[in-house]
Amino acid sequence: MNDFSYERVQRATDALGRGQRPFAAYVAGGTNLLDLMKAGIAAPQSLVDINALPLRDIVELPDGGLRIGALARNSDTAAHPLVRERYPLLSQALLAGASPQLRNMATAGGNLMQRTRCDYFYDIGFDACNKRKPGSGCAAIEGHHRGHAVLGASEHCIATHPSDMCVALAALRATVVTSGPRGERRIAMAEFHRLPGDTPQRDTDLEPGELITSVDLPPTLFADHSHYLKVRDRASYAFALVSVAAGLRIRDGVVREAALALGGVAHKPWRVPAAEAALVGRPLSTASIADAARATLAGARGLKYNGFKIELAWRSIDRALRTAGDIA
Ligand code: SF4
Repeated sequence: MNDFSYERVQRATDALGRGQRPFAAYVAGGTNLLDLMKAGIAAPQSLVDINALPLRDIVELPDGGLRIGALARNSDTAAHPLVRERYPLLSQALLAGASPQLRNMATAGGNLMQRTRCDYFYDIGFDACNKRKPGSGCAAIEGHHRGHAVLGASEHCIATHPSDMCVALAALRATVVTSGPRGERRIAMAEFHRLPGDTPQRDTDLEPGELITSVDLPPTLFADHSHYLKVRDRASYAFALVSVAAGLRIRDGVVREAALALGGVAHKPWRVPAAEAALVGRPLSTASIADAARATLAGARGLKYNGFKIELAWRSIDRALRTAGDIA
């Protein structure tokens, strides 16, 4: 690990001032960043500890939505009465992630910023990793890629985004609120994470020094009919092979609004508005679910070891929507 300075800041203005210095990094729970530093993948010259900033609260917004402070711990968010009552999808997704100990430390902002779990990214013994070392190649494409992306990948990177929380946030149409040199910015969750393209080293739309301050949720639509399904190799403490966040608003037997996002299949939570539209205006049925799955997985492409994820994703969409909609 390289030498670095450490400073705990008390005010957001101080955080922004320190965070915009070259090679600075914000730290809160540290559940991913410290691993990256110990492995020699991240080497910030200064760590700006933001834990003392007043960004921990979860509060109702005037429009009936919910603001989750960037420093709210995952365990607190999952257990919050308003989250459980109005956004059970989010609570389920949070509880599907990591372990209780990690959830007690991990924060909403940190969850958004966590990096892929591609083995080659974490093992500096492999030279070829465009995300860690731009221009070096991608060891996963010809190597071990069972858990890698089948949607939105590029010839430069086939990594997946590891978060469960972000999949639920994408389905729930969350907005990420940030503070930076040019003031506040509001970024739709669908735009926050990037596809790899030819710059896989950039995971998000954040600018250097920009600080996440909250995640805002619109008023709930899906409290009565939602389900988070996570399919993985073991029952806990494992990342998703495929996950599905499904939400439905059903009136008089007809789906009026739909939310559908996938995790474990792409470099970002995968949400296709056309798939949601395929569910709306008709009763939930085998036919409408198949239309939604087809739209979600359009263009999916597997490699030697991960092609099974396409069929797995189809079946997971089917099961999650049926569970959310209370149909057999
Ligand atoms: Fe690196 Fe991405 Fe290839 Fe993994 S998939 S080795 S993170 S470039």
